[in-house]
Parts: sequence; structure tokens; C-alpha cells
Amino acid sequence: AREADPLDALGPGRTADGHAVKLLANVGSAKDLPRAEGIGLFRTELLFLDRAAEPSRKEQAAAYRDVFRGMPGQRVVIRTLDAGADKPLPFLDQDGEPNPALGVRGLRVARRRPEVLTTQLAAIAEAAAGSEADVWVMAPMVSTPAEAASFAAAVREAGLPTAGVMIEVPAAALRAADLLEVVDFLSIGTNDLSQYTFAADRMCGELADLLDFWQPALLQLIGICGAAGRAAGKPVGVCGEAAADPALAPVLAGLGVSSLSMSARALPGVRASLARYSYAECRRLAELAVAAPDAVAAREVVGKVVG
Ligand code: PEP
Ligand code: MG
Repeated sequence: AREADPLDALGPGRTADGHAVKLLANVGSAKDLPRAEGIGLFRTELLFLDRAAEPSRKEQAAAYRDVFRGMPGQRVVIRTLDAGADKPLPFLDQDGEPNPALGVRGLRVARRRPEVLTTQLAAIAEAAAGSEADVWVMAPMVSTPAEAASFAAAVREAGLPTAGVMIEVPAAALRAADLLEVVDFLSIGTNDLSQYTFAADRMCGELADLLDFWQPALLQLIGICGAAGRAAGKPVGVCGEAAADPALAPVLAGLGVSSLSMSARALPGVRASLARYSYAECRRLAELAVAAPDAVAAREVVGKVVG
């Protein structure tokens, strides 16, 4: 008989009363393929951080294919290059910006170098065609519905059926419903969404209290996205570090989030926490957290129930 696997035993992500919340993993290459319901964030820029020259379409397709082939029948959300600020790519010449976090980074690079995006999408399409993974493509650092529409058009032009955008900028969260008119899904990057909501550098340890994922203002923005997703009948996930906090998982589910993507080691704790509450309890916890005056109070009021 097969040895008992604790992940199999616990099954997919769901609340106590069976409301599904997909539990996905964040990866940077085929080296760290997880035991999960799929991949919620494949950070492609991590493959090319040390490159002086742009990787060819062929090389990119091979690297993406390695990941897709390892996940047959499962969702793989691949993110187009998120270059700039904390992750500069030498071949994109991003030096010299006075405020790199507010500069030409993420999808904005396509304004200057549209061919880099086109080549990457062609490589993704080529890799997807040779695999059985359910490949979804998303763009980082999107601020407006117009940017989302132009990205979705480029994705479809490449022959890929499912296009989404990350929510990392408050303007995008506020307009989540408009974004969902032009894309198939949203994925909330709480690391950057915190940084831009609180105007606090995500690398600055001294400002950790502002970057706390329990900040009610951050949760409120997540709630706007979750509600928009439920109204549109389209998936809205969280793929930033906030998704790895077991105590926050029922809150995020209650805010309307339909998937949580995290580093693989965080999956069992989040799955166990989610399974302890009904969906109605999750919604109640979400209300309490958003109504709290600050992050400490939000954590405390939910902690009293979650324990
Ligand atoms: C995020 O910003 O939350 C995110 C998931 O993207 P990254 O950490 O790669 O910027
Ligand atoms: Mg980000």
C-alpha cells in the first residue's frame, strides 16, 4: 500500500463547510515544483536575473516547458517578467531612475520594449502547446483598465486563452470591477500592494508595522477585489506573502478570495487553518478585521476566534 501522505489526507483547500479555496504554490523554476493544487505564481524574471542579454524565445520556451510539463492537468499561473526596483534585469537598461519602485517596471517595460513582451508570450505559447498544464498568463504592476486590456489583447494574440493581471497598485484595486471586464482573473500581490498603499519601501524593516498584512486598509482593498471577482464570477487570488499566514487565511477567504498561493512549505498550515471555519465564519472574521482600527487590533480580534 502507498504510504499515507499528509497532503493527500487533508485534500484540497476548503472551509469546514466545503467552500473551495484553491491552495497553490509560488515557484521560480522547475527545481521547486510543489505538491499543490497548482502553481499560483511562476516568477519568470528569477530565471534571468544575471543575464546581460535577453534570453532567446527558444531558451525561454525550454525553461517554461520544464515547469508546465511537471504540472499536467493543473493550473500554472505564469507571470511575465517583473523587472525593476528590487529585481532589475540587466538587459532592460533600467539604471538611472531616481525612484525605481515608481519607474518603468513590470508591465510598464512594454511601453519602451514591446518586443520583449511579445517574445516572452510567444515562448509561453510554444511551451504551453507542448504540455498538458492549464496555463494562465498574468502581468505584474498594472495600474489601469487600459493597461490590462492591452496586455489581454497581446496574450490572446499569442494564442493563449487565459489572461489576468496582478493587483499591486491601489488604483488597480479600486477599479477591480473594470479590470475584470477585460481580463479573466486577478491575482493580488500583497507585497507590492502594501508597499504602494502605505508608501513604505517593502525592503525597509524599520517600517514593518506599516507593511503588516493585517493593516485594515490593505484588507479593505483586498475586499474590493474579492467582491468584484464574486460579482463577475471570475477568480481572484492572493499570491503575496499574506497568503502564507494561517491565521489570515479565513479572513482572505471571507473577503472573497478564491485561491491562495504561497511557498510550498506554508501549504499545510494554511490548509489546516482554513478547514476550521465555515464560510459564514470566514466572512464574519473578514468584517471584524476590516473594521479594526489597526493591524494589531485586527490580528487580536481575529485571534480571539481563530486562537
Ligand atoms: C507581490 O508583490 O506580492 C508579489 C507576489 O510579487 P513579487 O513579490 O514578486 O513582487
Ligand atoms: Mg510584486
